Amino acid sequence: MSAESPAKKGLAAIKGTHDILPSEVGCWQQAEALARTLFELYGYREIRTPVFEATELFERGTGETSDVVTKEMYTFTDKGGRSVTLRPEYTPSVVRAIIEHRLDLQPEPLRFYYFGPMFRYDKPQKGRYRQFHQIDVEVFGEMDAAIDAELIEMAQAYLAGVGVTEAETLVNSVGCRTCRPAYSRALRQAAEAKKDALCEDCRRKADLNPLRIFDCKIEACRRIADGFPRILDFLCDECRDHFAKLRAYLDLYGIPYRVEPKLVRGLDYYTKTTFEIVSGKLGAQNSLVGGGRYDDMMKDFGGPDICAIGFAMGLERLLSVARLEPPRPRFLYIVTLGEDGKRAGMTLARSFRRAGIECLIEFKDRGLKAQLGRASKLGAAWALIAGEDEVRTGRFQLKDLATGRQVAGTPDELLPVLREQ
Ligand code: AMP
Repeated sequence: MSAESPAKKGLAAIKGTHDILPSEVGCWQQAEALARTLFELYGYREIRTPVFEATELFERGTGETSDVVTKEMYTFTDKGGRSVTLRPEYTPSVVRAIIEHRLDLQPEPLRFYYFGPMFRYDKPQKGRYRQFHQIDVEVFGEMDAAIDAELIEMAQAYLAGVGVTEAETLVNSVGCRTCRPAYSRALRQAAEAKKDALCEDCRRKADLNPLRIFDCKIEACRRIADGFPRILDFLCDECRDHFAKLRAYLDLYGIPYRVEPKLVRGLDYYTKTTFEIVSGKLGAQNSLVGGGRYDDMMKDFGGPDICAIGFAMGLERLLSVARLEPPRPRFLYIVTLGEDGKRAGMTLARSFRRAGIECLIEFKDRGLKAQLGRASKLGAAWALIAGEDEVRTGRFQLKDLATGRQVAGTPDELLPVLREQ
């Protein structure tokens, strides 16, 4: 009888989620390690927040009219009758954490980065998953457009560091509470005039939050939205000045970018700068990095009036275009023969590991040849044989599996050989 596969029994991973297998994990670790090193060079520190939060946090933060909140949240009632949500994004959590712990009163700069899974009930396709991973970066309390430019520069430095080429930076300004109402009115009027041609969802958005029409994925709606008024023509003096400065600072860094007036990003909270880094290599889901300012969220949550800007980068998308080559671990395979050899091998493995040498010892009953074959197959750098003679004399044969070179010695004598690269 053939064994039934887990997928057939209904035990497969849930649609839109995926396993990150040991063969893939090296790239993830390398991407994370590079992010950690780079972001810390810019003064950012890691913060970790819970995977689920009160639903209200995202309704108020991400925004009640955003697609994320209206359609995509994993929301459920817990056993205590509270409505909780698996975080669809990270920004509202960090804002909550700052207010809750009054991090703004600490002497450290409010610059944070974070890695972790996010959850959105979206239609799965290449580059779009229901559980995906983001690297997020947020900086608080910096109003100057110089920080907007520095953040974009840091995102670009990171992408260059992981070998992403062919990435384009798009920038826009979505205005603020002073100038956006007039723009929303103009947009609503334009949408009203084209009402019959827009999808039902866009007609609803036209009433609630016309800016969200730009998020529609339907081609006909997108074409109509192309002809709508442009936010850049409605900016107040302050927002126009901020946007001009951002572009000047990007020029100072020599960063190429394109102004994209339809770039409103899918979340409700953005003010002034929005930006995205896209890659032509990604296909339909071409956004690698998305970010912008959200100067009102902290005070809207009842916290201090502190402005903010940040970005999020999708790791699945990043890794599909990055060129990473994680170093292969060099490890020692300990071959053991008989009970005495096994006992000697166990003690040897322990002392080598304590000396920082990666060691693998396996306990299946295999002969010498089979164990050496296995060491090669697993990619061990060396094999060390612990047989009867070796145990008796205290001297072991160490074989370099790439060159075939053998050396014999006591464990102390072999240690420097194992440390050689
Ligand atoms: P957002 O939080 O929507 O601004 O998205 C920021 C980044 O997260 C995007 O640029 C993508 O790289 C990534 N991302 C967003 N949604 C998904 C998803 N459903 N699956 C995979 N990556 C995503």
